[in-house]
Amino acid sequence: MSATTGLPPYDDSNIFAKILRGEIPSRRIHEDDHAVAFHDINPQAPVHVLVIPRGRYVSLADFSAQASDAEIAGFWRAVGRVARELGLEGSGYRVLSNMGPEGGQEVPHFHVHIFGGKRLGRMVPATER
Ligand code: AMP
Repeated sequence: MSATTGLPPYDDSNIFAKILRGEIPSRRIHEDDHAVAFHDINPQAPVHVLVIPRGRYVSLADFSAQASDAEIAGFWRAVGRVARELGLEGSGYRVLSNMGPEGGQEVPHFHVHIFGGKRLGRMVPATER
């Protein structure tokens, strides 16, 4: 377990690590020193983009505790820049990040989703527990 997250430690074989290393392809729309953005392979909205830090972080708690100020600033600036460059600022959009099992996180490399291009509905759909 990671001390900062309670989640398993970072796993270099996760799919976003492979994307960062260029071992599998992605439809990149932005990259800089701290962040990479690419289209989600299974889009849940007309616009569905993922933004990931280049560093090895499992979750937001991990990222916010371990990343440098430059990495944190660079990452969030990239999220805002990508949303703006996708033309979503006028129509609106949603930024979402899943963490751990109950958050529904599938890929254990910290990332945010940017959804847009339609009216997005309820923030959290009701589900059976
Ligand atoms: P999460 O449930 O927040 O961990 O979301 C992981 C996201 O990664 C899902 O929306 C997947 O569709 C997406 N995904 C998985 N593999 C790839 C890939 N090779 N390229 C782009 N997106 C991917």
